Amino acid sequence: MKKKKIPLYVKILIGMGLGLIWGLSAKSLGLVEFTQDWIKPWGDIFIRALKLIAIPLIIFSLIDGVSNLSDISKLSRIGGRTIAFYFTTTIVAISVGLVLVNIIRPGKLLSDERRESLRETYASQLDETVVSAHELGEAGPLQPVVDIVPDNFFNAASSNSNMLQIIFFSILFGVAMILTKSEKVTPVKAFFDGANHVVLRIVDIIMQFAPIGVFALLASLNIDGELMMALGTYSLNVVLALAAMMFLVYPVILRLFTRMKVATFYKGILPAQMLAFSTSSSAATLPVTMDCAERNLGVAEEISSFVLPLGATINMDGTAIHQGVSAVFIAQAFGIDLTLGQQLTILLTAVLSSIGAAAVPGAGIIMLVIVMEAVGLDPLGLALILAVDRPLDMMRTVVNITGDSTVAVVVAHSENSLNTPAGEPADPVS
Ligand code: ASP
Repeated sequence: MKKKKIPLYVKILIGMGLGLIWGLSAKSLGLVEFTQDWIKPWGDIFIRALKLIAIPLIIFSLIDGVSNLSDISKLSRIGGRTIAFYFTTTIVAISVGLVLVNIIRPGKLLSDERRESLRETYASQLDETVVSAHELGEAGPLQPVVDIVPDNFFNAASSNSNMLQIIFFSILFGVAMILTKSEKVTPVKAFFDGANHVVLRIVDIIMQFAPIGVFALLASLNIDGELMMALGTYSLNVVLALAAMMFLVYPVILRLFTRMKVATFYKGILPAQMLAFSTSSSAATLPVTMDCAERNLGVAEEISSFVLPLGATINMDGTAIHQGVSAVFIAQAFGIDLTLGQQLTILLTAVLSSIGAAAVPGAGIIMLVIVMEAVGLDPLGLALILAVDRPLDMMRTVVNITGDSTVAVVVAHSENSLNTPAGEPADPVS
């Protein structure tokens, strides 16, 4: 009898489960040092490999995707729709967070002693966060636009944090290919098409190591269960708002704007979600998000190669929720009642700062300083929530990439570029 192969996502799930068990029990078994020395490096190798392939993937798939478009007007239509959806979902996300935090009021439940002890423990970590945020805040208003245009291709390609610059160059290159009506372009096109296939195969190869990688990543996380409980109501508030996005808002969007079944969607992006949870980085997850969108959900490459890298950089619904809830939570804990105007300021700054946040672990908490200062809150209050940032980061990153994938499906549907996923029956409207 032929042995049935265990699907990759099941293996990743097993890796995650074992990693979490190991991570939670390492301290009591005295295995922390062993874990850092012998297990963590495998997780680091896995993340490095994913990051390694991110820039080549964006360059090849975006140039290939854009140059396949029949005309430039299609590109601007896709771009306009994508940005409109990204803005709208982020605003909805923060609003959900703000409504919930005003109902639950977790900040009122923190005891005075707990507040003091958290402040003392995390005050030193805070300095770095506040300094990084201030460096970001000092630039002029148009600096973010200036930063999108690279002055040197190799500089731009030398750091994963320059993703928008690489997107800019790739779109420019693709557009120039469409505009160059000469057979000289044919081999260039063939090259990018071929290279894109090769890069996708590299993603496949790296993903074979995902079960070991996620095991190592989760096993070496130091999650403090006790503190998590102390900040339980706050964490629960963030998780509830994230869940509302995942199980209410995105399904409604899919229902309204596409014909895809919610179950098909979630099954298709599960591998990317598991990776987002394990790496806390939308950027590191990007190659797999693109792979899932194209192969499992049938999003055409010309759409996914544009919408998803852009989304990983500017669309962070989970981060936005976290910023809204955290700012209000800290104000409540300080006994400050924020006015409606101040909460609107939080909404606006959180939209902007979630756009500006880098797609890496902990980026959201740095940007939170800017949100807090916008309404006059002392950034020292961040000390109250730093302890539970990592687990919440893992969860908000899942929402971040789910939001990107939802918009990719919606835009693909609107452009008639949603192919039937391989091996799946067409999804009729039910
Ligand atoms: N870790 C998040 C991401 O990569 C960003 C954040 O909220 O810290 O999407």
